[in-house]
This record gives sequence, structure tokens and C-alpha cells, in this order.
Amino acid sequence: MHPTPPDQRLITPLADAYGRVATDLRVSLTDKCNLRCTYCMPAEGLDWMAREEQLTDDEVVRLIRIAVERLGVTEVRFTGGEPMIRRGLVDIVARTHELGAETAVTTNGLGLERLARPLVAAGLDRVNVSLDTVRPDTFLALTRRDRLHDVVAGLAAAAEAGLGPVKVNAVLMRGVNDDQAGELLAWCLERDYELRFIEQMPLDAEHGWSRDDMVTAEEIFAHLERDFVLTPADEARGSAPAERFLVDGGPATVGVIASVTRPFCGDCDRVRLTADGQVRTCLFAREESDLRAALRAGADDAELASRWVTAMRGKAAGHGIDDPSFLQPQRPMSAIGG
Ligand code: SAM
Ligand code: SF4
Repeated sequence: MHPTPPDQRLITPLADAYGRVATDLRVSLTDKCNLRCTYCMPAEGLDWMAREEQLTDDEVVRLIRIAVERLGVTEVRFTGGEPMIRRGLVDIVARTHELGAETAVTTNGLGLERLARPLVAAGLDRVNVSLDTVRPDTFLALTRRDRLHDVVAGLAAAAEAGLGPVKVNAVLMRGVNDDQAGELLAWCLERDYELRFIEQMPLDAEHGWSRDDMVTAEEIFAHLERDFVLTPADEARGSAPAERFLVDGGPATVGVIASVTRPFCGDCDRVRLTADGQVRTCLFAREESDLRAALRAGADDAELASRWVTAMRGKAAGHGIDDPSFLQPQRPMSAIGG
């Protein structure tokens, strides 16, 4: 089926009650992963989504098409779990690209060495690779797998395939890698990767997050400023979560995503679709809207779009992590899609 030309589309924006409009769709393609990052997954014992619960490739693409053609979504980012282990990834990216959306992937980098070129050929526009350390022993401690070399090779392959500027996402954990912020930045600068630190959020499967233990943006700055001079990059931030800083006068930059200590919920333009077809209006949402059930019961595109619009109206003003009544969502990050 051919995509509807943009000038013939009737768009109902994904607007919420606070005047925000979602145009950035995060699609989780699987809840499974080949790493076990301590801030995300337990070493073992997580229940996986049953295969029949997961949307098929055609179902995922259908919901993306509805989002792009009817709901004004302009960018689709594939995530997980680990999206590289979804067999249909390249095809899903190609079909999303054909719809006219910008496409991006967030990955741990395993498998990227093999897939970078096919993904670019499919129309992938951007990639974010998660890497918290460049020391093999720390990598093993953080991810419980000895795969640093694969991530490094994946990053190089992404840059070579034309996916630059490759972004690197890092989470700092107290007593594990928080002393390595400067080292990681120097490593990324040498290779022209754009590093962004993300504050650890209460989304781990084991509910082990603690506000007192997390490494704050302030601490990240303090670590970096031992080795580098940071000056705010002179730019409008818009809906971008990262605050960017010029490193040693620029042009290279480093970003800090202070989701907990400096929330940016007021500018959020995101909506999420889980691998089992649930719309989530926020990482921290406590309610989901089941598009899979409607889709499998035979709902047409208009009905699915209308359910999506209704779900968006319930989007909360903010995540409220600092609120005493805050409750961590049932789903861990790996099953939501970061
Ligand atoms: N597996 C892919 C990866 O690691 O990039 C994609 C999914 S992962 C859930 C997406 C991003 O979320 C990664 O950059 C990861 O570091 C980050 N992340 C996972 N758990 C987190 C947490 N509790 N707080 C902050 N970021 C987290
Ligand atoms: Fe896997 Fe990404 Fe979670 Fe690490 S952060 S366990 S790579 S899903």
C-alpha cells in the first residue's frame, strides 16, 4: 500500500490537556536484550513478553503509518529492550522511512557492526549508542556481559556508514563509573561522537533506584569540569531533553539529560508504543491504552487513531519523581522503550 501524500492528509494532532503536541514516537520493538545493565534489568528472572503478545512487523508498521499519516508524528525512534535483536528491524525502518518520517534507533551497539550499512540503505537517519564506560572491567560490572569490543566496533561502523554525528548515551552509577565521566568524554571527542549523560531514573526492574544514590547533573558537571571547560551552547533547546555545553570553547559539545533534577516535562513532544502495542504517554505513565486488542479485534485506521488521540488527552503534566506520592511504573525501562 502506498503512503498517502502529505498534502492530502487530514491530521488530528496528538495534543494533551496542557497544550503539548506529540510528534516524536518511540517504538519499542522487543523487551529482550543481550546485555543486563544493572540500572535497567536484573541478572536473571525477568518475565518476557510472550511471542503472541508482541506486535508483528505488519502490525507495528500499520500503527506507525496511522501515527504519521493521521496524527502528525514526524519522527520515529526504535528502541527496546535491544532493537538490533528484532529480526524485522531493517524492514521496519525501510517501511517507516517510506512513510516520510525521520527514523532513528537507540541501541546498545551490539550487532550494529553488521547492521549499520543495511540500516542506512533502509533510510535510517540517526543512531544513539549507549556506552557508560570504555574500561572492559567496568563494562562487565555494569552490563554483566564482556562485550565492550562489540560496542566499540558498532560505533565505528555507524560512523563509517554515514550515521554521524553518532550520539553516545551514558548513565553514571555511583562508585561504579562516576569517576570516569572525563575519560569517556575524551574518548568520544577523539572519535567525534557526541556524548550525553542521562541521570539515572527510577525505571529499573528491581526497583533499586534511590534519589540519594543517583548521580545528579550537578555532580556530572563537577566531574567533567575537572578536565574540561564547559560553557552553555548558545541555542534554543526546544523539546530536546539534553542541555548542551561547548567543550573547551567548542565546536564539540557534551549534553546532560537531567530528567530527575531538572525535568523538562513541560516541553515534552513524545509518545511511546510498547512492543505489545500499548500506547504510553510518558515513561512514567501508570496507565496504558491497548491498541493491540483494538487492532486485532478489527478496528479500522480511524478508530485506532481516535483511541490514540483519546489516550494522549490523559497525559500527566509531569513525571512527579520528586512528589511524595510518586510510584514507579510497573513496567521496567526494558519493556517500555527508553
Ligand atoms: N538497549 C538499547 C540501549 O541500551 O540503548 C535501547 C533501550 S535502553 C532502555 C535506552 C536508553 O535508556 C539507554 O541509553 C539506557 O542507558 C537508558 N536507560 C536504561 N535504564 C535507565 C535508567 N534507569 N535511567 C536512565 N536511563 C536508563
Ligand atoms: Fe539492555 Fe539497553 Fe537495558 Fe542495557 S539499557 S539492559 S542494553 S535495554
